[in-house]
Amino acid sequence: MTYKSTNPFTNETFKTYENSSPEQVESALVTVAKFAPTLAQMAFARRSEILHRIAKLFKQEQQPMAQMMTTEMGKLITESLAEVELCINILDYFADHGEEFMAPVTLDSSFGKAYYLKQAIGPILMCEPWNFPLYQIIRVFAPNYMAGNPMILKHASNVPGSARMAADIIKRGGAPEGSLINLFVSYDQVEEIIADPRIKAVALTGSERGGRAVARAAGEHLKKSTMELGGNDAFIILDDADKTELQKIVANARLSNAGQVCTSSKRFIVLDSYFDEFIELLTKEFKAVKMGNPLDPKTTLAPLSSAAAKEKIQVQVDRAVANGAKIIYGNEPVDLPGQFFMPTILSDITPDNPIFDEELFGPVAQVYRVHSEQEAIALANNSSYGLGSTVFSANPARAEAVAAQIEAGMTFINSAWTSLPELPFGGIKNSGYGRELSELGQLAFVNEHLITNHLDH
Ligand code: NAP
Repeated sequence: MTYKSTNPFTNETFKTYENSSPEQVESALVTVAKFAPTLAQMAFARRSEILHRIAKLFKQEQQPMAQMMTTEMGKLITESLAEVELCINILDYFADHGEEFMAPVTLDSSFGKAYYLKQAIGPILMCEPWNFPLYQIIRVFAPNYMAGNPMILKHASNVPGSARMAADIIKRGGAPEGSLINLFVSYDQVEEIIADPRIKAVALTGSERGGRAVARAAGEHLKKSTMELGGNDAFIILDDADKTELQKIVANARLSNAGQVCTSSKRFIVLDSYFDEFIELLTKEFKAVKMGNPLDPKTTLAPLSSAAAKEKIQVQVDRAVANGAKIIYGNEPVDLPGQFFMPTILSDITPDNPIFDEELFGPVAQVYRVHSEQEAIALANNSSYGLGSTVFSANPARAEAVAAQIEAGMTFINSAWTSLPELPFGGIKNSGYGRELSELGQLAFVNEHLITNHLDH
């Protein structure tokens, strides 16, 4: 595993990092295990104060942090700046609400007095993906800090600079040694860390492939885990959709972060009566993007994160076409040095096409024509994934009824996907299990410790 920062716009590798030695891994394990009881007993007010202080540092250093993300994985600078804002909101949210989420819960029982405490479970390992280099760290760090769990971070090997920056800022915000330790480890070392008795749980966000490997190791060692994996999110457009609202968000729903979002809308499922008009709208929106330097605020479509990412999506599109899919727009070479992929619209994808059930991680939209609401729901659910989804309809009751029938962890009605600190994030089926963010996310790794007193009624 080589940890290095390569700018996907210039293709220049601007920094490489040494892998963590076995001694560094052991030292991290000793440190988090030693710090665990201290953090578990630290007053909530103090934990909260530290998170607010880290949030302030994120604000002060928003520009260099955003710049690091953009140069390491290519996202637009405007998106990077917004990602830092989101981290600040998450830090402040858990600083303000984390204590109440940990309050004991009284139970009504015929046995006697009964309640459960919510207690820290101890050090956890987090494995994070490159597509949101800072947000992914903070959405695990902030709630677990309030829960009292120290963390070891294994970030994706193409965003080591962002990982180091986050660990550094957490330290400078006043989090004592052992709160979060960043390591540059191999897959074998990840497995050794999971197997180590000092580690109590593992949180992974990433692909189905990475999730399976890490969940297998966690299962073997009986460690609790959460898996936030990929998606093939459906975007259902009913015949009464508000077209003006739709137009405002449709391109972004697919193209933000160059289409590399787990909850990007990947499959547009459109009622027959609106299908042709929708194709016109999507084509117009895709044609309007401006590819270029992601550090230039006027650029609207960033390069993909790496040469490998571009190669992968090209192979998938070629395979889709070889199996009968039609290109409505795009799939042409882009005359720029970076890892750009032209926004592409695919139609005529049949269930036997290999990409029907694959995640396309880039600016490629699949469009499907359906003839009824029930057909739309059935198609949305014909996927091994179940992360997010969107329903567009001007009738709230109808939209909610459709939303309730979609097999997914999240459904957004009349908006593109979003992520906010108070909203639980996660999926079902091959999109994983468990939730991050919100109260549910904070309680992912706590011991709900039941206490009863038979003699006290
Ligand atoms: P990935 O290849 O699975 O990697 C995720 C993290 O796990 C990285 O740190 C990676 O390290 C590590 N990893 C992968 N395989 C491993 C193994 N066998 N043993 C130990 N560690 C392993 O995923 P990615 O390509 O970085 O991220 C894109 C995927 O993440 C997409 O599928 C996207 O949909 C999904 N995602 C999901 C959510 C969600 O909340 N559901 C959010 C964001 C992204 P290396 O970099 O060193 O390989």
